[in-house]
Amino acid sequence: MNNKALILPAETANISTMAKQLQAGDIAAIPTETVYGLAGDATNPAAVARIYTAKQRPARNPLIIHYASIDAMREDVYITPLAEKLAQAFWPGPLTLVLPQTPTCRISDLATAGLDTLAVRVPAHPVTQALLTACQRPLAAPSANRSGQLSPVSATQVAASLGDRIGFILDGGPCERGIESTILDVSGDIPHILRPGSITEAMLTFVIGPVQYGQAGVVDAPKAPGMLYRHYAPACPLRLSVDKPIPGETLIAFGPGPIPEGFASVLNLSPQGDLNEAAQHLFDYLYQCEQSGATRIAVMPIPSEGVGVAINERLHKAAEAVVA
Ligand code: AMP
Ligand code: MG
Repeated sequence: MNNKALILPAETANISTMAKQLQAGDIAAIPTETVYGLAGDATNPAAVARIYTAKQRPARNPLIIHYASIDAMREDVYITPLAEKLAQAFWPGPLTLVLPQTPTCRISDLATAGLDTLAVRVPAHPVTQALLTACQRPLAAPSANRSGQLSPVSATQVAASLGDRIGFILDGGPCERGIESTILDVSGDIPHILRPGSITEAMLTFVIGPVQYGQAGVVDAPKAPGMLYRHYAPACPLRLSVDKPIPGETLIAFGPGPIPEGFASVLNLSPQGDLNEAAQHLFDYLYQCEQSGATRIAVMPIPSEGVGVAINERLHKAAEAVVA
């Protein structure tokens, strides 16, 4: 790999250098509490175009826009009373809200795929916060991987996927959540979860009452998920809810056991059976499986409750998307 990206520790001096680069239209990988993001000035069409090119992301798949605070986004989106409530409860944090754009919205149409809504979030990671404050503009930041690869949860993983396509990776250590943000569409009458994440349905319901599940806002979205663009596709077959091995399989286990035997190797997402810990380890362990040259991956059943819903959603997409 022609790995030219510089990995910089997330120190104050590097954060302010990075902020200047982003202001000038460059793109760079940055840590967040969910996964690493590939950030660029969302108001600059050239910067946004660089993000799509580096990721090889289909232009019809819009980006999430990150802000330092709710006040910083008022020029771009209508903050409905429902959104205010959610922001109060969950921002800064791993919740993305889809809101109607205002007529004064500064965000490049490229980043929104021409939709009249905008997906926005206030991240909690102190480095992301410092960067957003320093560069004083909204940052588009999809996961810092090539389309179809794993979302990275460490600077090394970013380098493995995009190291030959970007100049800088700001290293903020491993991501605390390890799974992408929950996306909630509150632009219509009924709130819809477009993507489950670590802000769970129960947490949302507690604050705003019942929510439904819906489909992400890809322009011209086909009805079957995963048909328009590739989700993470593991390099080898991946089986779910497994209790018996196929020879040579690597097991991704969950919980204190009993752990089924006979697998080539075992990685336990959370020996204590803690779903948040499992979410934090999920992409990292899948990455380790790929790095170790695993030929088959098996995953134990994971309860579909709380953040387990998000874990299972990612795993189901991965199992459907196997290309090898
Ligand atoms: P990623 O950047 O890879 O985390 O993916 C962002 C997700 O947000 C994609 O699934 C998009 O379809 C979704 N998204 C972004 N903007 C919007 C929007 N305005 N309406 C609905 N979904 C959106
Ligand atoms: Mg992604």
